Amino acid sequence: MPIRLQKYLFLTLTLIVFSPAALAEMPSDADLQRVVDEAHARFKDVKEGANANYIPILDTVPSDLFGVVIVTREGEVFTAGDVDYRFSIQSVSKPFTAALVMAQQGPEAVREKIGVEPTGQPFNSKIAIEMYPSRSGNPLVNAGAIAAVSLVEAKDEDDRWRLVHDNIEGFAGSELPVLEEVYTSEIETAWSNRAIANLLYNYERLYADPEETLRVYTRQCSIGINVEELAMMGATLANRGVNPSTGRRLLPAEHVPELLAIMAAAGFYDESGEWMFNAGLPAKTGVGGGVVAVVPEKFAIAAFSPRLNEAGNSIRSMRAIRHIAGELGVGLYGSNPEL
Ligand code: GLU
Repeated sequence: MPIRLQKYLFLTLTLIVFSPAALAEMPSDADLQRVVDEAHARFKDVKEGANANYIPILDTVPSDLFGVVIVTREGEVFTAGDVDYRFSIQSVSKPFTAALVMAQQGPEAVREKIGVEPTGQPFNSKIAIEMYPSRSGNPLVNAGAIAAVSLVEAKDEDDRWRLVHDNIEGFAGSELPVLEEVYTSEIETAWSNRAIANLLYNYERLYADPEETLRVYTRQCSIGINVEELAMMGATLANRGVNPSTGRRLLPAEHVPELLAIMAAAGFYDESGEWMFNAGLPAKTGVGGGVVAVVPEKFAIAAFSPRLNEAGNSIRSMRAIRHIAGELGVGLYGSNPEL
């Protein structure tokens, strides 16, 4: 064989074997179901941690509930465990309202008016508001999420709520109720978030009335969702902003990477570095026990389990997702299933 042809064949084969597309092949349906089952079986008996109780009603959610779901960008669904129970979405809603602001006003609005830096502080930190020039940090901590709700362009409070709710339903591809008991429990005890809203207003980093913003933010956190619907929200990001089941576009494709970058940097509050170290996937947690992680342009993994660690992150959900990321080798930087 002529040398030039040999060289050509060698180069072609090398490109096929080592190109990112080949490395990041889509796992088979059988593998997706296997890892979901395995993750559920492996962690179902873990009892570590405790339900959130600073919002009194969250302490009454049955702690043993545990569900794990993968939804692909084509809308295929793989489930194990308690996938029907609707829990409060809490902070898992935050990136999706940031997406709404991006869709309405472009990503620069999020960067300039909220910020995109991780705070390294707990989810409800007031110290971070004093420490950082952006005040609100990023849209995934309470300060930035409250700022994001205030930034949504709306005519009045009803319109603001309608836009926020419709956007989250759009990502989920389902009608989602507000869990009124959660809303009442949370708004009656929302002194910390009220302080945050007022502090931001003081620094001119809140863009609507603080009490109105607080109500809409708290309603957003009280939306009821099951783990399959949550995985569909993530799959919409994996599908470059289009819901795989309804075909509705929620976010321009070119802004999905910017949103995922914020999730990678700040999705787990002061445990974000640890999470990326272990799992290597952009993800978001909530104190209701839900977590959603995105494998860009492939699928989303969601899990639900109410018991949290000290940072407010669901222990079994994190372990299940880390395990799946490791088993499938889909961590953006490689991942270790044993951690
Ligand atoms: N609604 C909760 C709060 O504002 C969300 C916190 C979370 O899920 O991390 O305190």
